[in-house]
Amino acid sequence: MKVLIIGGGIIGLACAYFLREEGCEVTVVDRGDLATGCSHGNAGMIVPSHFVPLAAPGVIRQGLRWLLDAESPFYVKPRLDGGLLRWGWHFYRATRPQRVERAMPILRDLSLLSKRLFQDWARELDFSFAFTEGGLLMACRNQHGLEEEVHTAQLAEKLGIAAQVLGPRELAEREPQLSDEVVGGVYYPGDAHLQPQLLLAGLRRQLSNRGVRFLANWEVQDFEHDGGRLRAVVGERGRLAADEVLIASGSWSPLLAKTLGFRLPLQAGKGYSITLSPPPHPIRHATSLTEAKVAVTPFEGAVRFG
Ligand SMILES: Cc1cc2nc3c(=O)[nH]c(=O)nc-3n(C[C@H](O)[C@H](O)[C@H](O)COP(=O)(O)OP(=O)(O)OC[C@H]3O[C@@H](n4cnc5c(N)ncnc54)[C@H](O)[C@@H]3O)c2cc1C
Repeated sequence: MKVLIIGGGIIGLACAYFLREEGCEVTVVDRGDLATGCSHGNAGMIVPSHFVPLAAPGVIRQGLRWLLDAESPFYVKPRLDGGLLRWGWHFYRATRPQRVERAMPILRDLSLLSKRLFQDWARELDFSFAFTEGGLLMACRNQHGLEEEVHTAQLAEKLGIAAQVLGPRELAEREPQLSDEVVGGVYYPGDAHLQPQLLLAGLRRQLSNRGVRFLANWEVQDFEHDGGRLRAVVGERGRLAADEVLIASGSWSPLLAKTLGFRLPLQAGKGYSITLSPPPHPIRHATSLTEAKVAVTPFEGAVRFG
């Protein structure tokens, strides 16, 4: 079977890997250069500890405060956009306590399964992507932030995710680079991190060796149908036929889905990262600076802030 995957981020490449294992003939197209973007520039954290959905009780109140502050970690540019309003309504409904309660074990299981797949890859792939099972530190700078993290740690324990509440001295022993202003935090020993660029570059090399075809700078703009069946994708560079088409286009997926008549309730978020190499102060642990919503990840010979 010929499968065409739209998007060469981590989701597109992971799907290509498993489809190839199943014997499919796979082509990955990407409108970019296959070497930049979200899947390359992220913080590389694999975090079963993040089982509380973004849409949690209280987030709307906090979000409204942040909403209009362009410096805040969650700023939405005010605009009249039907898709955004619809998404906001779904998001609001998802913050109801019963919904959150239902979502938490599902997110936990998804993350644990994802971690197991990374563990398999770390064993089976013939290249290293610096997969490190070193846990995650959540570092808090004020008492309110710490109280929220301690509450999450208690929920974690109930869900079977190990969590250790640490005082400032224990935290400093684990991570001496943290400032004296840190009042405490939580350590999640089951979390892990990896180096995204190593993973993506290695996967692409290995998939190419196994016969997966990559087409960079190839933007899919439309689809060709025949009797209700999808036959091909179409772009400025031509037409590509396939038996099955998989949309793995990240935050752009709703645009393609709309062309097919589907409405995906998905809104793009924006994130940034900077990588310092060599690191001015080498750190030991993947760390989250909770109030600032900044992730700090130790890489080989570098540190990334996301
Ligand atoms: C700063 C930052 C830090 C993050 N840290 C973490 C973290 O620590 N842990 C974690 O789990 N997640 C993290 N994330 C989120 C994570 O990076 C994303 O969830 C993940 O990379 C999404 O992968 P993807 O393959 O779905 O999408 P993408 O990586 O966005 O890939 C989609 C691809 O589709 C292509 N495309 C789009 N439209 C078309 C089209 N029409 N035709 C052809 N190609 C198209 C794009 O060019 C792109 O390459 C972070 C994100 C950011 C921004």
